[in-house]
Amino acid sequence: MSADPKRAVPVSLSREGSDFLTITWQDGHVSRLAWKHLRSHCPCATCREEKLKKPDPFQILSQKELTPLKAVAMVPVGHYAYRIGWADGHDAGIFTLENLRSLCQCPECTSQSKAPSSTGH
Ligand SMILES: [Zn+2]
Ligand SMILES: [Zn+2]
Repeated sequence: MSADPKRAVPVSLSREGSDFLTITWQDGHVSRLAWKHLRSHCPCATCREEKLKKPDPFQILSQKELTPLKAVAMVPVGHYAYRIGWADGHDAGIFTLENLRSLCQCPECTSQSKAPSSTGH
């Protein structure tokens, strides 16, 4: 890991409208993250288990699925992570700063993650 230590240090966090979180990082990069995107990458055990289940086409759509996902709270956990609380009451997911940075959806970051970074000489 040769990550720039400034990479995962936020200088400001703000809401953009009701659907996005904007994080400005110490290296000058700005990440615009959709709440939905963050929720679908929730690192808690419950969400990870849910992702492993096969989708059931006969499931009843619950209030949870019909309510647009929004964060209602973002609480710092130490100096390295945030616990995000959602409108449906779920708040078990702890997003580390590294995690938030890696979820950045800007063209720069998405093209970086696709390109292999290490190649043999
Ligand atoms: Zn979760
Ligand atoms: Zn980015």
